[in-house]
Amino acid sequence: MIYMDHSATSPIKEEVFKAMEPYLKESFGNASTLYYLGREAKEAMENARRKVAELIGADLSEIIFTSGGTESDNIAIQGIAYKMQSKGNHIITSSIEHPAVIETCKALEKRGFEVTYLPVYENGIIKINDLKEAISDETILITIMHANNEIGTIQPIAEIGEIAKKHDIKFHTDAVQSVGKIPIDVKKLNVDLLSISAHKLYGPKGIGALYIKKGTRIEPILFGGGQEHDLRPGTENIPGIIGFGKACEIANRELENSIPYLTNLRDKLIDSVLNNIEKSYLNGDKKKRLPGNVNFRFTGIEGESIVLMLDSMGIAGSTGSACSSKKLTASHVLKAIGLEDVDSHGSLRLTLGVENTEKEVLVIIQAISSVVEKLRVISPIWNNNKT
Ligand code: PLP
Repeated sequence: MIYMDHSATSPIKEEVFKAMEPYLKESFGNASTLYYLGREAKEAMENARRKVAELIGADLSEIIFTSGGTESDNIAIQGIAYKMQSKGNHIITSSIEHPAVIETCKALEKRGFEVTYLPVYENGIIKINDLKEAISDETILITIMHANNEIGTIQPIAEIGEIAKKHDIKFHTDAVQSVGKIPIDVKKLNVDLLSISAHKLYGPKGIGALYIKKGTRIEPILFGGGQEHDLRPGTENIPGIIGFGKACEIANRELENSIPYLTNLRDKLIDSVLNNIEKSYLNGDKKKRLPGNVNFRFTGIEGESIVLMLDSMGIAGSTGSACSSKKLTASHVLKAIGLEDVDSHGSLRLTLGVENTEKEVLVIIQAISSVVEKLRVISPIWNNNKT
């Protein structure tokens, strides 16, 4: 099998699994207990926290562990909204956020908040001027993702952060797709809050973190035993945390090599497909995108059909995000970059990982050509447009 859906989830690295193993077996202590097993768990947890902090240039005390990206986004967005409610009720986000952000914003709208969904343009990136115009005296929070999960485009986070700071508005970014893939320094990015998920960077599922800049006060949305500064109470997922820490340590070590390696594979794939397949297009900006992200559309063909045919050839790709591929609606991200309904059903997302090889990329290029050719023979849209 060739796996090219790393934005959906990534395989766990052997080193990560090995680090977790003892904490699933003999070192099973609860980090809140006083005896040796508990102290051992607590120490390992703090060591992992340091590794997460190091990957993003944060301080140890600024990291709380959560169950993943969705929970981090919820704690950050709802937490700021409720804390700052007396100051204003306006939130700014973008129209291409992950459902973990968009649905949280929609829920807040039902509770009296006002949300501006900034447009993106053909390249999948917001315009700073639109942001400036959207800011009002009521604005309390800007939440804009770092890298998009479907088209991989990277937003100008540092610039947005500077504007937020100038207006004294809190700034959260969902960096679930970018942490471990491109360099991140929370100070240079000017963010107050940043969400991470371990399973996107070769760590286990069900564990993530939220960076909360020192001094940023947020209202808890979960209540319980007081763990993680009272913001994410509940017995800590120690094996998950250890795996997450190890995955961050590896990402930190390998980033320097993985970026050029993946960028090279990505560009080979893009150039070859665009040059060889008639009416094939790349969705999103060609350069301002994640090193491993490719998102094509092919006139006259549905993305689902391509994914299923590739699957039958042992190749795992997707049409968009894992969440939206369950719904037969057009992708909100592709619609936001200006595609017609028919085109926003037609995308193929391939997201490369460090274990993918050049040979695999060549196999994929061949496979896509043959699948597109076969599907176009039976495509009424393709055949009608040709005559
Ligand atoms: N945010 C983005 C941009 C994502 O891509 C995802 C997962 O696909 C999430 C949030 C949700 O993360 P998790 O699966 O850890 O809840």
